[in-house]
Amino acid sequence: MKLPTMQKRRTFINKTGLLLSGISIIPQYAFKPNFQKKKLSVCLVGLGNYSENLLAPALQLTEHCELRGIVTGSPEKIPLWQKRYGLADKNVYNYDTIGAIANNPDIDVIYIVLPTGLHSIYAVKAANTGKHVWCEKPMAKTAVECLAIIDACTKNKVKLSIGYRMQHEPNTQKVIRWSKTKPFGAIEKVRAEIGWNITKPPDTWRMDAELGGGLIYDVGVYCINAMRYTTGLEPVSVTARHENTRPEVYKEVPETSIFKLDFPSGIMASGKTTAAENVNILRADCTKGWHELSPFQSYRGVKGKASDGTLLNSYIENQQARQMDDDALAILENRSLMVPGEEGIKDVRIVEAINKSAETGKMVKLS
Ligand code: NAD
Repeated sequence: MKLPTMQKRRTFINKTGLLLSGISIIPQYAFKPNFQKKKLSVCLVGLGNYSENLLAPALQLTEHCELRGIVTGSPEKIPLWQKRYGLADKNVYNYDTIGAIANNPDIDVIYIVLPTGLHSIYAVKAANTGKHVWCEKPMAKTAVECLAIIDACTKNKVKLSIGYRMQHEPNTQKVIRWSKTKPFGAIEKVRAEIGWNITKPPDTWRMDAELGGGLIYDVGVYCINAMRYTTGLEPVSVTARHENTRPEVYKEVPETSIFKLDFPSGIMASGKTTAAENVNILRADCTKGWHELSPFQSYRGVKGKASDGTLLNSYIENQQARQMDDDALAILENRSLMVPGEEGIKDVRIVEAINKSAETGKMVKLS
């Protein structure tokens, strides 16, 4: 894997032993470093598409973590996973035995990659084992469930990270920096939209409201998160509506959600998630110019431009590997994680407000 600059720097630091010798060239890395372990061992919970095709392969590319365990309710998947990744029998669990990970020194991190409606129950169980918790986005279905995860991690003194890989992506990180440096003046408007023209919707939990299905959860949180990191602010109110041109298909979850978030200083943010149109854009219009990423949410090829000709075209080979390495290193060095639970709960609160506004037809104020 081609090492991105930051990783090269980390590799350089590791190889030269600068930290061990007490000479730190990056001050925050000197904060309570944990040299007992070089790599964190990760246990994936739920072996669906994201675990199988993205996270497990990405874990083979990471520098600071490795795949050592699995939790699955599908016994037929176990032999293939064990063969492919050399997983020991004692590191294979099911949903009833997950609590026993508490006694397994092979596992450092439990990564929840289940349907959204199940995140809370298993993330709390994971925290209660005393292992660190990584939880996929959206953090959970409700803010109450998110709070339960945060409380369990706090009580067990373990770290919690939410799988918002975009915040680890370099072009996105430039947009985040611009929210503070404001090179194009004050932001006036933000637009964040994601959708696909989905002719054959999946017949899975993604269409099941109880399990946290629906695009407003699945990718709406990317739009909301982007509005928040682009402005660097928290919204004060939400107005939203759901639209459905295929009620016979979208029986439980909306086909399209259109929402407006009002931010302090009068910044207006408009968002959309849709299963009826291909769209993937994050744009900020400012007093002295504009910038945009399109696509702004993609496994590869996040790119964009700005009104002064700046191109946002940094490339990283594997976003998931970068995210997990960033999080593993933060844990090993006892630093704060880039996307903690407090970040996940903010977006879920806003999804709940969007749904409430769409249901009542009224603006919902956010406290
Ligand atoms: P998936 O449907 O492919 O896999 C879900 C897994 O959960 C399956 O292994 C399934 O067997 C298991 N499962 C356990 N109990 C279940 C139940 N009661 N009903 C249905 N499945 C059950 O889903 P996925 O695409 O792998 O998504 C899993 C999580 O990962 C979701 O939270 C999703 O939002 C997140 N995700 C994140 C990204 C990202 O880029 N960060 C991308 C895709 C998915």
